[in-house]
Amino acid sequence: MAAAGGRDRGAAAASDIPSLDRLLRDPALAALLADYGPTRVTAALRARLDDLRQAALAGELQHDALQPETLAGDASASLHQASQPRLRTVFNLTGTVLHTNLGRALLPDAAVQSVVQALTAPVALEFDLERGARGERDALVEDLLCELTGAEAATVVNNNAAAVLLMLNSLASRREVIVSRGELVEIGGAFRIPDIMKRAGAKLVEVGTTNRTHPRDYEDGIGARTAMLLKVHCSNYAISGFTSNVDTPALAAIARERGLPLGVDLGSGSLVDPARWGLPHEPTVRETLEAGADLVTFSGDKLLGGPQAGLVVGRADLVAKLRKNPLKRALRVGKLTLAALEPVLALYRAPELLPERLTTLRLLLRPQSAMQAQAARLLAPLQDILDTDWSVSSTPMASQIGSGAMPVEALPSWGLSLRFAGKGSRGRALERLAKALRDLPRPVIGRIADDALWLDLRCLEERDEAALAAQLERLRA
Ligand SMILES: *Cc1c(COP(=O)(O)O)cnc(C)c1O
Repeated sequence: MAAAGGRDRGAAAASDIPSLDRLLRDPALAALLADYGPTRVTAALRARLDDLRQAALAGELQHDALQPETLAGDASASLHQASQPRLRTVFNLTGTVLHTNLGRALLPDAAVQSVVQALTAPVALEFDLERGARGERDALVEDLLCELTGAEAATVVNNNAAAVLLMLNSLASRREVIVSRGELVEIGGAFRIPDIMKRAGAKLVEVGTTNRTHPRDYEDGIGARTAMLLKVHCSNYAISGFTSNVDTPALAAIARERGLPLGVDLGSGSLVDPARWGLPHEPTVRETLEAGADLVTFSGDKLLGGPQAGLVVGRADLVAKLRKNPLKRALRVGKLTLAALEPVLALYRAPELLPERLTTLRLLLRPQSAMQAQAARLLAPLQDILDTDWSVSSTPMASQIGSGAMPVEALPSWGLSLRFAGKGSRGRALERLAKALRDLPRPVIGRIADDALWLDLRCLEERDEAALAAQLERLRA
């Protein structure tokens, strides 16, 4: 073939490009066809051949690019790229253990096994094996929840927002619910008590003030249309200074006297007081029921350490009303949730073993010294990779429990802080480095604050450390 004037010797013409049919029959494409199937391989090759035709017209097509092996390699790379899952596994070095945007609680092994089983084999989800008849999916965890909380009955929905919605709609539709102005919370991601109230068809009656609510405020607020009293745990903020609120026992007394149910949205809620392990106190579900709450709602994937779920426990007659509500059908959990929830709840029967077996608690209790040792191991390689543009130091830092649990309490942690030492904008350099970390095969999510990028090592368990270290080399230059 004679090269046209002006082209270099290696240049190929459009007519040199192999046909799609011929390529698909070429042995070089066999493995790709087996992996991805003819539809996807054909589409990838067609797109590649179109590009090559453009290159030929521009006089920039090289013969090498037309080898079947080369074309198979190109198609393989683009198909591999397009097949990456969108739900990526990341490293959570934000310092927030229960990070809502990163999926909150990590599940313990027992739950993982159970979910895999439920994914791949039929399960008795709504089937009573005793009687050989239709059963109730709530029954799978109701006894456990009652045992662990002292409740008469329990039901499970998709998340705690759904639990609150179902409770309000079942008990207070077209009637009034009394809430303290100090508890009209917004939880990140558009959960606001006044909005949920509206959607539940209940009318919110606000009593008291932002910083102070007294028993008489509730008493004055109760009228003929009142359906229930609601107490909301201030998950993600604290009111301090000149404050006063009505605690659950006092509120329960008022509710009982007026013949009204008291619902408590505990938010995170906990089945065991974390103070037992030196963590900040968090009200337990059991003590809230003992204090007189008629129904308590809480999340499955916050401090509990389980799957996303909303749990409602309390009086049997009230739980029965929730179950009868058609909304319950719309908000019910799937089998995977129940498969994960049951073994997590079962771990709470042996509270002494929780720090070892419940992943969330294990992360919350990691000793600072373990993180400091990790920081020491990672510092030198990272400093070497980032070269003189960055100064890396091993620093104490403060983690958050997250998801609204104990917002003002920080956990003493340890990690690496990265400060820009090169020329140019510090802010932009930090953003660039944060992006480079997010572009790693397993993205690393840190936190930018006070002119530094912070990598909190609390959530980097030892078994994942090598995987993190191995990919850091890609940050070079
Ligand atoms: C987190 C939280 C919710 C929402 O729970 P989800 O499980 O995220 O739906 C509701 N109320 C309070 C007080 C919370 O802390």
